[in-house]
Amino acid sequence: MKITPLGAAGEVTGSSFLVESGEKKFLVDCGLFQGDPESEERNRSFSFDPREIETVFLTHAHLDHCGRLPLLFKKGFRGKIYSTKATRDLAQFILLDAAKVQEEDFLRQSRKKKRAGEEALPPLYSEGDVLFSLALFSSVPYNSPIPLSSNLKVTFRQSGHVLGSAFLIFEEKGKRVVFSGDLGNPHRNVVPDPDLPPECDLVFCESTYGDRSHKTLEESIEELKEAINWAYNAGGNVAIPSFALERAQDVLYYLRNLREEKQVPQNPVFLDSPLSINLTEVYQHYIEELDEELRALISQGKDPFHFPGLEFTPTVEQSRAINQKNRIIVIAGSGMCQGGRILHHLKHNLWREDSAIVFVGYQARYTLGRAIVDGAKKVHIFGEPIAVKARIYTINGFSAHGDQRVLLGWLKSTGRAEVILIHGEENSAFSLATELKATNRSVKIAEQGRVYEI
Ligand SMILES: [Zn+2]
Repeated sequence: MKITPLGAAGEVTGSSFLVESGEKKFLVDCGLFQGDPESEERNRSFSFDPREIETVFLTHAHLDHCGRLPLLFKKGFRGKIYSTKATRDLAQFILLDAAKVQEEDFLRQSRKKKRAGEEALPPLYSEGDVLFSLALFSSVPYNSPIPLSSNLKVTFRQSGHVLGSAFLIFEEKGKRVVFSGDLGNPHRNVVPDPDLPPECDLVFCESTYGDRSHKTLEESIEELKEAINWAYNAGGNVAIPSFALERAQDVLYYLRNLREEKQVPQNPVFLDSPLSINLTEVYQHYIEELDEELRALISQGKDPFHFPGLEFTPTVEQSRAINQKNRIIVIAGSGMCQGGRILHHLKHNLWREDSAIVFVGYQARYTLGRAIVDGAKKVHIFGEPIAVKARIYTINGFSAHGDQRVLLGWLKSTGRAEVILIHGEENSAFSLATELKATNRSVKIAEQGRVYEI
């Protein structure tokens, strides 16, 4: 088997691997490059012929793993896309939203470029391409090997990262290769714990937080509580930039608990993201796949993602109306502040000394979120300079990615497998590699385009 990383090598986004077994070609993930100034260009083409790909195996529904599937269809791919059923249901909303965002960006850019006598780049794909690519999905259960030929099979296992997420085990002629996808943290309340991988020969393992230890979940809930109480007492607002998938549902879940326990004021909360609202509905349909703590809540007749004082605001008018209110909490996307409704809430709150901005997720290089987290005193939003005077909280314990300790523990279970680190910036991958080498593991940091053979 030959495996070639096509993205997420020395970086976090653009996850995709070409897997070749004899004459057959497969992909693991087909993700979008995000954040990087060159990602617009990198997203436009593939280094292989999409018509030659027999099957895509999708680990989960985050855009940096599934975001180029409609482009793959557009460029001629007509094979199958295997994923869990929940991943397919989440991906349909995520991909339709991505097509809509691209169309809106294109119209905005066109107007600007026209004035400069230039042309804007067209969207990567249309809603139609999304719908055609969705028709190629086939749902697969966890823990049930899928035969691809007489000597090759693939198994999806629980990776505990988001609803429906999986790591993959490829088995061919007695050899095993594992792709971690994104790995979650054990002992969370919304998604189940990740399964441990089997002993194998080669493992491609994510390293997003390979250089860090997360604070505990309890400490993070305490920080969230502190931020909410501080802003309420100061008379300001709380804005929480959040990924639509998983983080928004996590925040709702822990906020619901804090409010039920009367640890925070009962002020209005808005989930101001049409995508998050749709994905939260998908979560409601898959309660049986979620963590036992969450199911226990449901058996007590409680709704884990709704509570008194919470309002879903799908329309633009509802969203605008939030800015007229005070002492509120608003959860909105995008999670790294690169677009979406959070920009309006940042514009209205960043300059206020009595407001709090609470980051609960990973902030990639070059993003507005990263600039704020790194201490920028002034940022530009919609071309307008905005002073950063709000209190900035960075709470990493809600992360859907395992930290160094979790990753080392998970990798230990692969026995003596050679480790190829993916899905991490240089420092994270290097730091995790150093720890692994100290335990005499053979480890490399993935290089894009290099062929790894087993
Ligand atoms: Zn992910």
